[in-house]
Amino acid sequence: MNLTEIMVAYYNKPLSLCSNEEIYFALLKESDRMAAGKENKPAVKKLYYISAEFLIGKLLSNNLINLGVYDDVRQQLLECGKDICEIEEIECEPSLGNGGLGRLAACFLDSVATLGLNGDGIGINYHFGLFRQVFRENSQTTVPDPWITENSWLNKTDVSYRVKFRDTEVAARMYDINVTGYDSTTRKLHLFDVESVDESVVGEGISFDKSEIRKNLTLFLYPDDSDEAGRLLRIYQQYFMVSCAAQLILDEAAAKGCSLHDLSRYAVIQINDTHPTMIIPELIRLLTERGLLMDEAIKTVSECCAYTNHTILAEALEKWPVEYLKKAVPQLVPIIEILDDKVRRKYEDKSVYIIDSEERVHMAHIDIHCCMSVNGVAKLHTDILKETELHHFHKIYPDKFNNKTNGITFRRWLMHCNPELTAFISSLIGDGFKKNAQELEKLLEYRNDMRVLQKLTDIKQIKKKQLKDYIQKKQGIILCEDSVFDIQIKRLHEYKRQQLNALYLIHKYLEIKSGVIPESPITAVFGGKAAPAYKIAQDIIHLILCLQQLTSEDSHVSPYLNIVMVENYNVSAAEKLIPACDISEQISLASKEASGTGNMKFMLNGAVTLGTVDGANVEIHDLVGDENIYIFGDSSDTVVKRYSEGSYNPMDYYEKNPRIKRAVDFITSNQLLKVGNKEKLERLSEELLHKDWFMTFPDFESYVKVREKAYSDYKNKTEWAEKMLVNIAMAGYFSSDRTIAEYNNDIWHLS
Ligand SMILES: *Cc1c(COP(=O)(O)O)cnc(C)c1O
Repeated sequence: MNLTEIMVAYYNKPLSLCSNEEIYFALLKESDRMAAGKENKPAVKKLYYISAEFLIGKLLSNNLINLGVYDDVRQQLLECGKDICEIEEIECEPSLGNGGLGRLAACFLDSVATLGLNGDGIGINYHFGLFRQVFRENSQTTVPDPWITENSWLNKTDVSYRVKFRDTEVAARMYDINVTGYDSTTRKLHLFDVESVDESVVGEGISFDKSEIRKNLTLFLYPDDSDEAGRLLRIYQQYFMVSCAAQLILDEAAAKGCSLHDLSRYAVIQINDTHPTMIIPELIRLLTERGLLMDEAIKTVSECCAYTNHTILAEALEKWPVEYLKKAVPQLVPIIEILDDKVRRKYEDKSVYIIDSEERVHMAHIDIHCCMSVNGVAKLHTDILKETELHHFHKIYPDKFNNKTNGITFRRWLMHCNPELTAFISSLIGDGFKKNAQELEKLLEYRNDMRVLQKLTDIKQIKKKQLKDYIQKKQGIILCEDSVFDIQIKRLHEYKRQQLNALYLIHKYLEIKSGVIPESPITAVFGGKAAPAYKIAQDIIHLILCLQQLTSEDSHVSPYLNIVMVENYNVSAAEKLIPACDISEQISLASKEASGTGNMKFMLNGAVTLGTVDGANVEIHDLVGDENIYIFGDSSDTVVKRYSEGSYNPMDYYEKNPRIKRAVDFITSNQLLKVGNKEKLERLSEELLHKDWFMTFPDFESYVKVREKAYSDYKNKTEWAEKMLVNIAMAGYFSSDRTIAEYNNDIWHLS
């Protein structure tokens, strides 16, 4: 890429006179042009990865890296006095996902393209994504987060469909984003939009007029679903997505000469969580409409579809009342009833029925009965599905169940976010790890090399300084880069237990106040959004922000303990935070985090995990060994047993353990009420004392103990650097290239 020539062609002036906006736009267009030249030839069988979320992050640097021109472009810019990081700032981040599930879909597309597989993604073109988080008076507020600008990565296509609902019909349009593979082929992310979308129906904050589907269907990701209009809208969105997907899949198959009887030779559909489940009855409906008998249609569709389960949290498993489906998509109801009827005829066990006694459709049950594969996303998670959560289904379909431990793309989560570390690794073991992540293990040879260990420490220090500058610029908060950086960034949810981290920090604060000074200063960083309707999650954010204010205003405490909550945590923020981290907090209640992928990103960047025996933490532990991870808390067996006995009473712990009592009492103390809101803090304290559904108290003592041990170990820089090295070296298993190769070998069978 010759930037001088490009700028002259676009703007008729030299690079040095171009604005950052102009450079961004030209780079976008040029890389899109290069990407388009790398589309691979269509093969017979094709993967359709359908997901309601694709949390893709900014694309410029990612694409330049994958196209192999990043270093060259950066250098040319540098020679004209321009910083590529400032060009990146121009790009808006599309917030087309809530968290891990959407980010996983984005990493998977990167790997599908990198491995040269014949597969595309299908999703929804939300105009305002999730929402932008803004802190006001120590609380979260929400505003729309528009990302579609004149110069965006979206390319309008001439593919259009009609989608029929009970009471209305909409025209759909397909937009494409090029997905560049690393030194490989280009694939597509197809995002469908309604032609009649109307951004003017958005009111105060993220509220909007819910009455007209034609106008609001693609405005937001998962709008507030606490009322019926919200839940119905979600059904409309899901059906819109799968109706478009089904039409595209059948069109593409027909173009290749598919006769419909043999659809599974042409298409494999990966259903990412239950949101795209309606693709199953929709395809069955279309196949029967085009002449297949019902039984053959069901069989054909079942051979095409595969389902990924992401959660065992009961409240997160989708169940739509039949009545809602009748209101929005009545054409699917007879098909779903036939599927349910077949199950009822075959099995007596009511727990595997599709429609339950309250006339609700269990979406996951459709998937399990009608897919050829059901996978969990980490070893422990899949075991829990088989043995507990989906045990009855596993007895019926033992061969369908399989595990695909999640992964992350190393292009974004190492090469892009940590060029300093990437260059150092290359200098030691060559570039092979960029294509074959397992080669990182070669780093183990250097575990006793003082020069290497020192350099790893130096790089961590550079990344901490960069994060300090970033947070100072964004939020005006000044971190101390000579403290241990202890980071918990992820969606706010009680099961992820930010409240346990907060209780520790209260404990620490009170210790410092009583004269017990930490051996090395601590910086505790949080980041994460909470669903607007999720009160307790909002209250936890409130508590953290109150603690942030309290510690920063207390000159006796702030030299030893700093607490900061990063505003609007998203992919771009993650890219800054993760490389700067010393201790990665992965403290979900055992059995509740299906996999986690944040844990993998941190490990890859040399942070040491402090975590429970949950999700992929188990596999991280197996890989790095006891010496290089901090594990605490009750096992998933203990937790599952405690739930089934219904024996847990938080008051028992509160009354017996003075440290827990002191920390919880502090939440409603006068000191905190001075900076906080009484109603919110009291509600949180009541929740902990009388419910604590995710069992923070039983794990509190072991958490405090292991966190102290980690801080004390951190003082030995050499030993700590060796832990960093082992974590980086063993992270290769978590490359999404490995995950996608497994999906292909076991489920998709693309040539
Ligand atoms: C990786 C990632 C997540 C998932 O984090 P977990 O700790 O696995 O929950 C969520 N949000 C963003 C922006 C991410 O990059």
